[in-house]
Amino acid sequence: MLIFNNKAGLKALLSEHKKANATIGFVPTMGALHKGHLSLLEASAANNTITVISIFVNPTQFNNPEDLEKYPRTLDDDVKKIQSVNENIIVFAPTVDEMYEGRTQSGNFEFGGLENQMEGSHRPGHFDGVGTIVKKLFEIVEPDNAYFGEKDFQQLQIVRRLVKNYNIPVNIVGCPISREPNGLAMSSRNQRLTEQERNEASVIYKILAEAKTIYRNEGEDAAKKYVSTAFSGHPDFMVEYFEIADEETLLPATAAKNGKQRAFIAVYINGIRLIDNISLN
Ligand code: AMP
Repeated sequence: MLIFNNKAGLKALLSEHKKANATIGFVPTMGALHKGHLSLLEASAANNTITVISIFVNPTQFNNPEDLEKYPRTLDDDVKKIQSVNENIIVFAPTVDEMYEGRTQSGNFEFGGLENQMEGSHRPGHFDGVGTIVKKLFEIVEPDNAYFGEKDFQQLQIVRRLVKNYNIPVNIVGCPISREPNGLAMSSRNQRLTEQERNEASVIYKILAEAKTIYRNEGEDAAKKYVSTAFSGHPDFMVEYFEIADEETLLPATAAKNGKQRAFIAVYINGIRLIDNISLN
């Protein structure tokens, strides 16, 4: 399997493949891979001649230095997991310097207001960091198709806006959320939870699923009230936000009743921040 640490080597190889009319699928990640990431790789490998995965813990998208420091880094294990999907997948695992060339800073991005909701309002600068790294990676890989998980639904919509704003010729493919058997959305940050916390964290999805039923039967206020009451029975959890929003604009669902809606949640469990979401339609 080919692993590149520098852009020049990767670009040279990909340009050979492009000359031979290969289609390039791309899966950007921060590593510590789990089955959710592998489902994106499988989707790419099934629909493209070549699949590239990037593994890069992007410092500019972390608003919390402790979260960046504690983010799991498991490259050797990651490579084994990638190999189990397909031996031909190309890995791009650059250093911070290779990506930022001594200037580890975000650009300023505007995503039509998508960046001001939920994750944007609770993680200042996060989406500027995401925009910066995804744009850089797209310029290096120049993929035909790029795969993003609905686990980070707001990020998926922001990437769609990014490619529109900058006329980047790539098709963005959204992929469903992979969950543990108990319902917990798979996440690299789950590695930081104890077994007991991972079990307890399954209530996040159970509460989201129940909130969906209540939203459909009784409306938004009842769903919100239910969520806040349900979490009051779990003192280890601190809900940062629970929002019901329009899928396109990410504005509160009450502002746009005709589109599709989704419920979004961010919860701290003993200091570890988890996010999840569920379609309400
Ligand atoms: P990350 O490594 O957390 O930056 O995630 C890399 C990509 O994998 C993003 O597009 C995520 O949305 C996606 N992803 C992360 N967790 C899951 C999951 N449980 N199911 C599906 N996709 C996921």
